[in-house]
This record gives sequence, C-alpha cells and structure tokens, in this order.
Amino acid sequence: MTVAVVTAAHDFRRACQEARVDGELALVPTMGGLHAGHTSLIKAAAQRAPTVAVTIFVNPAQFGPGEDLASYPRDLASDLREVEKAGGTFVFAPEPAEMYPPGFQTWIEPGALAATLCGARRPGHFRGVCTIVGKLFALSRADAAFFGEKDYQQLLVIERMVKDLNIATEVIGRPTVREPDGLALSSRNAYLSREERMRATALWKALQAARRKFAEGEKNPARLEQLAREIIEADGLRVDYAEVRDPLELQRPAQADAASRLFLAAFLGKTRLIDNGQLG
Ligand code: AMP
Repeated sequence: MTVAVVTAAHDFRRACQEARVDGELALVPTMGGLHAGHTSLIKAAAQRAPTVAVTIFVNPAQFGPGEDLASYPRDLASDLREVEKAGGTFVFAPEPAEMYPPGFQTWIEPGALAATLCGARRPGHFRGVCTIVGKLFALSRADAAFFGEKDYQQLLVIERMVKDLNIATEVIGRPTVREPDGLALSSRNAYLSREERMRATALWKALQAARRKFAEGEKNPARLEQLAREIIEADGLRVDYAEVRDPLELQRPAQADAASRLFLAAFLGKTRLIDNGQLG
C-alpha cells in the first residue's frame, strides 16, 4: 500500500478541502528525489497536523537555460515509499502542463531578498519558486507549510511573499539535515561520482572553519569569506559565491555577529552545491 496520488489540480484542491474539514492541513512542497532532508519536513508536518500533503513537482519555471531540468532525478515510486514511511497522507504530483497550461501568463515577482546570492546567479529562479509555491498555497489553503534551511534564502523569500500577499499559510523553517560527514543532503548529490562525493564536503569544511575563525574573534566578513573560498577551492571546486549576510535582510554586515550566516555555492564538476549556516 502506498499513499494516494493526485495529478490534477482540481483533485488536489478537493482533497485539501476535505482534509481541512477534519483539522489542520500541513503542506510539504518538494521536487522529488526524496531524501532524509525532505522526510524530516514530512515528519515535522505530521507532528503539526493530522493531514500532510506532499507535492512532488520538478518546476520548470525555476530552472534557467542550461541548468539541470532534464536530468533532475525523478523516481515517483521511490518517492511515494518515502512519503508513506515518513507519515505523509497524500501526494500531488502534477505534470508541467497541469501547472502551466497554455495561456499561463501571471507570475509572482519577488523583490530585494530574491535579487542577491542564488537570485543573482540564477536570474528568474525565485520568480519561478514564488509562482509555484503561491499556486500550491492557493490550491491547498494549507494551515502550515514546511521548508528547509538548506535553502535559507528561499525560506526568507517565501516568508516575505506570504506577508506581502496576505496568504494565511504559516511558513515553518526546519534545520538542514546532513550526512555523517557534514554534506547537506540534496537531490543533486545523486549526480556526484564517487570521487566527487568525497570532495563534496568542502562546503561543510568551509562553514566549520569560518565558525572556528569567528569563535576565535574574526569578525571581518571579507576575511571569513576568503577563508571559506580557499578551503572550497583547495578541494578543486569552483566557488559561485561565499558571502556573510545578516539572517533577515541578507545584507552584508559591517561586522559579523553570532547570528550572521555564511552562504556558500560552488560547482563540483557540473553539479552546483549550496550550503549555509549561522556563524555563532
Ligand atoms: P527540493 O526538493 O530540493 O526543492 O526541496 C524541497 C524542500 O526540502 C525545501 O524546503 C528544501 O529546503 C528542503 N530540503 C532540501 N534538502 C534539505 C536538507 N538537507 N535538510 C532539510 N531540508 C531540506
């Protein structure tokens, strides 16, 4: 027995409507390729609400030209087993044409929070994220929706969207789940060769080194960023960005403090890895 799957938007809306009669509905939006990071969100959602809707949709609108839309891991049968084990109630797994039918032309355009870091490197990415998440919130009218701090900027952008558009769904952020060696779980880790997988810990090593340096008294953002860059590059990755930012507006602080976060993105071969964490 696996969880029920709906693929039509109107069926998803109806299933959510029925669930909300009995109590709260929690939503966990994903792109599939489910791993323990995703299932931690589903488990947290199941603690919050009797019904947990998990969405599995590789959203074309958040991929840029030349990115990995075509090769992104897709294995619905395996994903359904993971949802079931974690305590999800049902799954919405639409085809792209269901979410973006002919004539589709209305987008949610986020502001300054989405213009920096991944938003600067992936133009249009957060517009695609906000639009799909906004659509999922409109369909589900979920009481709460769960997102990972692995994608910390995404979490902030969605929190801002919910405030700005008066959406009633409560946005809940959850900590990053890591492999025993520190690598943040990601569906994209499946792209890594055995040899790349060993070097993929570079971002975690950089984050830990920056934390140690900060604890020793280094408050200068540029020096902490430089240290992170050197560690990532020493393992042969290409740094996309290494930035110390405040945790609310994502601005660069004059002096890092314990709440400041280090944001990292780097290419390992063709695979783009991201990570982030608080310095203190
Ligand atoms: P994705 O399928 O990559 O779009 O991710 C779906 C949700 O899972 C997002 O809210 C992510 O932030 C979250 N997520 C992905 N990886 C992790 C992780 N390692 N730990 C916690 N949450 C994660």
